[in-house]
Order: sequence, then structure tokens, then C-alpha cells
Amino acid sequence: MRLVTCARAVHIGAVVDLRRTYDVLVVGGGNAALCAAVTAREAGATVLLLEHAPKALRGGNSRHTRNFRAMHQAPTKVLTDAYLEDEYWDDLRRVTGGNTDEPLARMTIRASAHVTPWMEACGVRFQPSLAGTLNLSRTNAFFLGGGKALVNAYFATAARLGVQVLYDTEVRTLTLDDGFVREVGIVSKGFPETVRARCVVAASGGFQGNLDWMRQYWGDAVDNFVIRGTPYAKGVVLKNLLDQGAMPVGDATQFHAVALDARSPKFDGGIVTRLDSVPFSIVVNRTGARFYDEGEDVWPKRYAIWGRLIAQEAGQIAYSVCDAKAFSLFMPSVFPAIRADTIDELAVRLGLDAAVLQATVAEYNTAVRVGQFDSTRLDDCRTEGITPAKSHWARRIDEPPFYGYPLRPGITFTYLGLKVNEQARVLMQDGRPTGNLFACGEIMAGNILGRGYLAGFGMTIGTVFGRIAGQEAARHARN
Ligand SMILES: Cc1cc2nc3c(=O)[nH]c(=O)nc-3n(C[C@H](O)[C@H](O)[C@H](O)COP(=O)(O)OP(=O)(O)OC[C@H]3O[C@@H](n4cnc5c(N)ncnc54)[C@H](O)[C@@H]3O)c2cc1C
Repeated sequence: MRLVTCARAVHIGAVVDLRRTYDVLVVGGGNAALCAAVTAREAGATVLLLEHAPKALRGGNSRHTRNFRAMHQAPTKVLTDAYLEDEYWDDLRRVTGGNTDEPLARMTIRASAHVTPWMEACGVRFQPSLAGTLNLSRTNAFFLGGGKALVNAYFATAARLGVQVLYDTEVRTLTLDDGFVREVGIVSKGFPETVRARCVVAASGGFQGNLDWMRQYWGDAVDNFVIRGTPYAKGVVLKNLLDQGAMPVGDATQFHAVALDARSPKFDGGIVTRLDSVPFSIVVNRTGARFYDEGEDVWPKRYAIWGRLIAQEAGQIAYSVCDAKAFSLFMPSVFPAIRADTIDELAVRLGLDAAVLQATVAEYNTAVRVGQFDSTRLDDCRTEGITPAKSHWARRIDEPPFYGYPLRPGITFTYLGLKVNEQARVLMQDGRPTGNLFACGEIMAGNILGRGYLAGFGMTIGTVFGRIAGQEAARHARN
């Protein structure tokens, strides 16, 4: 057993004493973990937070975020109009196809109206949405400085309050005995240790960073997936708890995935690698054929289906092709577009069969029915007589230069998680609540997001359930 230097030690010479029994042990260092840790500490509990990543890479997927979705009765400093419970619930019901737990969902929605002052007290700052951010100015509050600033603000607050933090520390096992976590097996900076705590909050994210686990459902296609966020979300704690009889929730094959630039890094590329060119282009697979309606609905309602669509195509690769008049309609890409003066030349640069791409574009151009183009709404520019149709924003691709982007499935997070109740308490397969184990964030988001996605709801779930888990864990520990 060792004494380990903690985050605060740099400033005050404190150490984390792994022989001590903390009131609350929090697994993870993202938004949900931090909300739980700060809340538990505010409630008077002693708190130890264990983050697998080194300090420089702390904050999980949360450090890539930009906003959270908040109910509000009237305009605020950063949100326009109103966004009330019934509309929020209706939006969620539609994207999930009803695959959600209504009491938990409504509780989360209602709580989202009240968390902002607490976030601000922790140092989180907000700003109105900027242009090109998926039309979210009414529903989503944007973090000034993005998720990285949010995570840094919470870590600073946690340190000020006396939450002890260990980086480079992976939780491997939470040993459950009769519904109670009795001990926690960790590897800290390479050394195995055993830790005890009165309560544990699991906030260790999804398992999208574990390609071998995803391979069980997707086979070798995973080699062509790009993971948008942290490589540390490997699902070690999730798997360990499911193996010990914790109740699963959500479909293991489901994930949130978007169309990403195929030139992105395998992990942690973050938000900038997403491409929003799809509705103003045509998208072809590696044989040069279109495979889905690029203009089916407004982009905020469709961007999250394109990762999965590309994942289902051969080689998990697709190409977005547009012309000069479409090029300025979407957010600029982080990697330069591949540009050519003719479709033939573009095909060659993209590695596609020139004759086939030429034929696909010609067939599409012939099918376009001229309408009143309007990039901001569902306009009447559509195709006729081809399959798949392009239902909106269909204009001929005929104005050079032509542009192309290679696309890969960009996995944001997986949906399989732990079943929880309204106190964020993890349930066992027989339906009984565990004695001292709570969960928040992506690891339990599948309770509410069984399918589909609502932009900004990941951070809402993590914040609301992080606060609940922190409060409940502190109360349980201190009783
Ligand atoms: C590029 C990108 C942009 C996004 N944008 C938004 C957005 O604007 N709004 C929104 O609502 N959502 C967004 N999301 C989704 C959002 O990131 C998540 O819903 C949210 O951050 C989940 O928070 P979390 O704390 O549960 O998980 P994470 O932030 O991923 O944190 C998990 C933490 O657990 C740690 N960990 C994992 N396993 C272990 C272990 N065994 N032991 C110790 N530590 C462990 C990890 O290191 C990490 O610190 C985005 C995601 C990505 C990738």
C-alpha cells in the first residue's frame, strides 16, 4: 500500500492516502465524474477521484463538447425564446422512437432548467451560439471556451474544495458482494492497489475506445472506425459490473456516430473533424453509387445518422461531392477539400472510378427539379425518378471547381450501459438496487437515450445525474 502524490500536492504538499476509507470514490475525470465529485464534497463527504488519463489528457469526451441542452421558460443571457418540458420531451421521444425511460427523462429535462447557476458557481461560463452550430441557439447553452474550459473549471473547483485526484489511475474492478462494492482494484501509475470507500460513483464513460469489444458486434469494420473522443473510454468498469450481475440497459450495437473526415486521427480528433457538407452534396460509396437521401431532413436532425450509414457501406468509406455553389454553405473543413476542375479529375483524386462517378453525377443532375433554394429550411429543390431521392437542397452539380471529401464513421459514444433508478443507484439484474454504487454520464445514458440522439443531451444527462449521484453518495456515506 502506498501514499501517492495527488493533484493538490503540487500546491499544498498533500498526498492521497490509499489506506484511508474515503466517503465517496468517483471513477472517471469527465463532466459526470466532476459534477458528482464536487457535489459530494459540497455535501461534506471526503472524495477521491480516479482518472485513467494523465493530467494533460484529463476530461474524457467532455473536453470536446461545446454545449448542453437546457429547458427554459423565457429567454436567458445565452438562449432565445422558451424551451418547455413538453417540447423537449417530444423532441426526445421522436429521436429515440420511444426507446427511453419517461420518468428518468422527464426528471432530467426538468432538472436541466435549474443547473446553470450551480455550473456558473463552479466557474463554467456560457456564450450565445455562433453561426454554423446546427441551429441550436434556442435550445442549447454553449460553454465559453468549450468543454476544455468547463472541465478545467470543475477540476479547479474540486481542488479548491479538497477533492483528491489521482491521474494515470485505472479502476479495474469494483468487487460486488451482496449488492455492495466492498473493494476497488486499481492500477495507479503502473502499480496495482486496493482501495476502499463507503460509496462508489461510476462515471467512466462508454466503451467506444475498446475496439476489441466493438469488434464483437461490427467485426473488422471497426478498423475503419474513427473514435472522436478519448481513447480511455474502454468500458473496463462497465464490463466488470455487467459480469457481476449489474442490470444492462441499451443495445450493445448502438452508438452515436457522425460523418467524419477520413483523414482524421484514429482517436481524440474532437469536434473539428466532423463534416457538414452532406445536405449540400451527393454522397457516394466506394463503387461510386449514391446510397441514402442526403437531403432527407434538416442537418441537426440527420447528422447523427450518417456515421452509422457509412459504417454499413463496404470498406466503411464514402465520399461527399459538391460544386462551387455549394462550397460556402457548410462549416469549413479542418482538412482542405480535394478540388478538381472536372468530375473525372475529382474521381481520380478521390480514388474512384471516373466513368462511374461521372454517370452518377449525370443521373443525379438529370433528376434534379429546379425549385426555390433555401439552405435554412426544408426547401422544394428535390430530385424525381431516382433512388435514393434527394428530398431537399438538390441542385445540379455543374459549376467548377468540384470538391470532394472522404468520409469515415466517427464514433462519439456507445449506448450499452448500467440500469439506474431516480437516485442514480445502479440496479442488479433481479431489479434490486445496489447498496453503495451509483452511476452517471455516458455509462448510464442508455437509460434515457436508447436510440438516436438529441444534440447537447449527453452533457445534460451527465450534469443532472452527476449532481444526483454526488448528493446520494454523500448522503449514504454520511449515514
Ligand atoms: C467530439 C465530441 C463532441 C461532443 N459534443 C457534445 C456537445 O457539444 N454536447 C453534448 O451534450 N455532448 C457532446 N458530446 C458527448 C459528450 O462528450 C458526452 O455525452 C459526455 O462528455 C459524457 O461525459 P462522461 O463524464 O460520462 O464521459 P467522459 O467525459 O468520456 O469521461 C469518462 C472519463 O472516465 C475515465 N475513465 C474511463 N475508464 C476509466 C477507468 N477504468 N478508471 C478510471 N477512469 C476511467 C476517462 O479517462 C474519462 O475521464 C461530444 C462527444 C465528442 C466525442
